[in-house]
Amino acid sequence: MTQRRPNIVLILTDDHASHAISAYGSVVNKTPHIDAIAERGQRIDNCFCTNALCTPSRASILTGTYGHVNGVTTLATPMDAAQETFVSHLRAEGYRTAIVGKWHLGEGPDHNPQNFDYWAVLRDQGEYFNPLIITEDGEQVIEGYATDIITDLALAWAREQPDDQPWCLLIHHKAPHRSWEPDEAHAGMYADQQIAVPDTFTDDHATRSNAARRAVMRVSEDLNLRDLKQLPPAHLHGEELALWKYQRYMEDYLACVASVDDNVGRVTQWLRDSGNLDDTLLMYTSDQGFFLGDHGWFDKRFMYDESIRMPLLISYPARIPVRTEPLTQMVTNVDFAQTILECVGIEASPRMQGVSFWPQLTDEPDAPTRDAVYYRYWENDDGQHRVLAHYGVRTTRYKLIYFYGDGLGLPGTSGRSFAPEWELYDMQTDPDELTNVYFDPAYNDVVDELTAQLWRLQAELGDKPHHTQAVPTLIAESA
Ligand code: CA
Repeated sequence: MTQRRPNIVLILTDDHASHAISAYGSVVNKTPHIDAIAERGQRIDNCFCTNALCTPSRASILTGTYGHVNGVTTLATPMDAAQETFVSHLRAEGYRTAIVGKWHLGEGPDHNPQNFDYWAVLRDQGEYFNPLIITEDGEQVIEGYATDIITDLALAWAREQPDDQPWCLLIHHKAPHRSWEPDEAHAGMYADQQIAVPDTFTDDHATRSNAARRAVMRVSEDLNLRDLKQLPPAHLHGEELALWKYQRYMEDYLACVASVDDNVGRVTQWLRDSGNLDDTLLMYTSDQGFFLGDHGWFDKRFMYDESIRMPLLISYPARIPVRTEPLTQMVTNVDFAQTILECVGIEASPRMQGVSFWPQLTDEPDAPTRDAVYYRYWENDDGQHRVLAHYGVRTTRYKLIYFYGDGLGLPGTSGRSFAPEWELYDMQTDPDELTNVYFDPAYNDVVDELTAQLWRLQAELGDKPHHTQAVPTLIAESA
């Protein structure tokens, strides 16, 4: 075989938390096909998104930049699709390229996928059943279940690719996004078992900021009839009712995941049968994590770990050695583009802001990557979820968060009176992030150091602190 570059298959799901993947130690389900990617390759344990929301995460993955650079900060900011992406670089170097499934970065001439030889995408969130599929040639409804159809279209394209030209295929599932609608083959598969409830389900948010208490994403109160698909039994109240809702939510969520897992198996089987598996960089990830009853919540958005942690399993048998120990260095969704480009030997754009972790995947597993992750949730949602805008820094031990809110929640607007608030978590002593120690005098130095680190990180990345934030003490002293 000629020394042609490897194929790339990126399977991206929507809202699939790593704690619903058995390779990550899930206690609620089994995902044998997703696990198998790590068994042939590696599992990355500390992969974080830089904004835990569908649209911004997708833009960061494609462009290798943060939201303030690619312009995609919220669900309402479509991507200028003419931007450089890892896909545009691959295509310029002779790759055939395709994307099938959820795009969710806008629609129309400026926002439809660009630099793809083939694209077939859902409109916005798309439908689980009989989805509308948009292509360059128009739109059509395809009968069936979205997760199966997306795989069908992806494999149909892959089968047509010439042997002598490398290709890159993005398979972007809608599942397991709210409102968690399983197909017939998987619906009810968890109905007869009691799904384990996370330890933090009854978190009372006592030491957190008002931002956490303000959020509308509580399993006990905020799941609607469309989510639950049936009315709760009338005799249930309080904790019993909350647990019933949790069970209902998770039954459907996990059934959607099971269908994803089966379809990952179909992709892998095809790669194996077609002789492509060894020479393909195969990645499984999700645009962000999800609260699966953790802290009493569903959804994402917050900078807490269950929300920002992305599953990431990678195989490329010809080049990436099998490792039973996971990679634990911190990486982010902004790093994907440069990692993929380094893998195939194509120079990244100077505009890209990530750090390639290709060396860690191959010859230097212990090489450090980044010492801090910068996070910013821009969407100051005063409607459905009511999560306030915030930014912060996560190191291997600590997490500092500034909820600036950008004017929301102030007197005269909806919600309780809100002024900017800080949180600090020591994840060594408090891995579940239950106790905000920002005001604990024992952490004064940590607060000073991290506040300065956050300030420097923003400057380095070209972002700006919110106007309500004072200059950190250590920065002011060194000026
Ligand atoms: Ca998502």
